[in-house]
Amino acid sequence: MAEQNINTEGEEPKGLNFVEEEVYNDLKAGKNGGRLNTRFPPEPNGYLHIGHAKAICMDFGVAEKFGGTCNLRFDDTNPVKEDVEYVDAIRDDIHWLGFDWGNREYYASDYFPQLFDLAVRLIKEGKAYVDDQTSEQIAQQKGSPTQPGTESPFRNRSVEENLDLFMRMNAGEFDEGSRVLRAKIDMASSNMHFRDPIMYRIIKTPHHRTGTKWKVYPMYDFAHGQSDYFEGVTHSICTLEFVPHRPLYEYFVKELADESYCPRQIEFNRLNLTYTVMSKRKLLQLVKEGLVAGWDDPRMPTISGMRRRGYTPQSIRNFIETIGYTKYEALNSISLLEHAVRDDLNRTSTRAMAVLNPLKVVITNYPEDKVEIVTMENNPEDPESGVHEMPFCREIYIERDDFMENPPKKFFRLAPGAEVRLKGAYIIKCDEAVKDAQGNITELHCSYDPETLSGMPGASRKVKGTLHWVSARHAVDATVRLYDRLFAVENPAAEPDRDFRDMLNPDSLRVVENAKVEPFIAENAKQGTKFQFQRVGYFTPDYDSTADKLIFNRTIALKDTWEKVQKNS
Ligand code: ATP
Ligand code: MG
Repeated sequence: MAEQNINTEGEEPKGLNFVEEEVYNDLKAGKNGGRLNTRFPPEPNGYLHIGHAKAICMDFGVAEKFGGTCNLRFDDTNPVKEDVEYVDAIRDDIHWLGFDWGNREYYASDYFPQLFDLAVRLIKEGKAYVDDQTSEQIAQQKGSPTQPGTESPFRNRSVEENLDLFMRMNAGEFDEGSRVLRAKIDMASSNMHFRDPIMYRIIKTPHHRTGTKWKVYPMYDFAHGQSDYFEGVTHSICTLEFVPHRPLYEYFVKELADESYCPRQIEFNRLNLTYTVMSKRKLLQLVKEGLVAGWDDPRMPTISGMRRRGYTPQSIRNFIETIGYTKYEALNSISLLEHAVRDDLNRTSTRAMAVLNPLKVVITNYPEDKVEIVTMENNPEDPESGVHEMPFCREIYIERDDFMENPPKKFFRLAPGAEVRLKGAYIIKCDEAVKDAQGNITELHCSYDPETLSGMPGASRKVKGTLHWVSARHAVDATVRLYDRLFAVENPAAEPDRDFRDMLNPDSLRVVENAKVEPFIAENAKQGTKFQFQRVGYFTPDYDSTADKLIFNRTIALKDTWEKVQKNS
């Protein structure tokens, strides 16, 4: 194991969360020879979601904080649901979040031989037996927390018979579900998990790594603690639902560990978010039934979906830092996550102009062929970011919503006779709204004040409204995908009587086909680029976007749009 250098000599670092406190105290007490080794143990049966990100930030974060290491362990003990596609996706997502496990990538399946040996040893010591009952029968005998369970009629088999049956289970002689190996502990224990828990079951589906070598597979409770032990894990940090499993974790680990080294389980609260679901089973169902476009659909709470939508790793990590780690279950508002995303994108995204619902404006007193180049700040929050150029000419597009024929009192945008500033360019006045036979407005005729460009005498002339715009001749067409919350219900998990699919938000995706973007956007529409379309929101090119057909995802709408533009214009 790698040399570690953890300094617990000086003062205790400030602001530790309760898990970090525990870890710190163990290190200070010199437990496990002063080593710190955590692990993140995903089952490769689906893509990672934002809840997993919380666990990743804890497992890798605490190791980083105290100079320890964190293993990536694929908990691949159920071949029926697992797939290498998920293994690859999990690796990508952890790296994207900014964490690395070096060469410490492990698989629970690597420990199948050692786990099998331990099972054989426990059988020989009279601590495990083969039960021929079905899982239903076994469940019926479990009893309740206030009532002791019933002992299986197979509980007192001889060691020889148990050994023989277990070997034959693994040789494939028996059908799935016909027999299990159980730990012989205590059917009257007040902890239900101690009532002769199942250690092994028969599964005949080939495993994605071990093929058909094994016909028996260990249960979570028999695999997890021992895997921690085999790997040298010192702190096995997991979520609160494992609290009742902890005594069993310790029971099995004690069969292996001694004073010098023993892994320890610590639990924190899960991440639950409003307007979404966090169950991998449900997310898989959405994918399989085509209710979303895939695991990385930008509406999904998956890390890959959030990446595609334009969320940044930093925003996710900031959000997790904000909500923190406690010992109590809670439901976190998705608005907090969105706030963190806005906050990060506001600092880092490139400002540019795009019009989602274009209305043509003809500036009648501007020369036909003239093109002027105006400059735009790339990011007022970042002095290093520089400027870019934008063409201005006689015909431009503005947002249809920015014009009203009969505006209410405080409408500071365009209306007949009203003046506005075109951001970074001239002040224009609306002279006429041109209509078609049906009375729909087809274009506006405006005139400009030629003295109002930056640097000119009339540049400081004040008007109330500032609009974004693009040059009609130079603009590039784009498709824009607008996302909203995936579910229409705040907490779908709290409505067990309803099919969760009926609670999906029917308007979670709206596609705008005829948006117009300034040339700078088209030229810089590389994967991963983050734009703020001024006054509209934060956008990023979708994976489907090409040079010939630009497609943007709206990451998130702007808040307080109007105030912001006023301030920055
Ligand atoms: P399941 O076990 O039902 O397939 P799972 O979400 O627990 O689903 P795992 O792959 O076992 O998936 O999870 C890996 C790790 O991520 C576990 O340590 C688990 O505790 C943690 N984790 C899973 N969901 C959350 C969540 N919502 N919040 C915090 N941690 C989570
Ligand atoms: Mg799990």
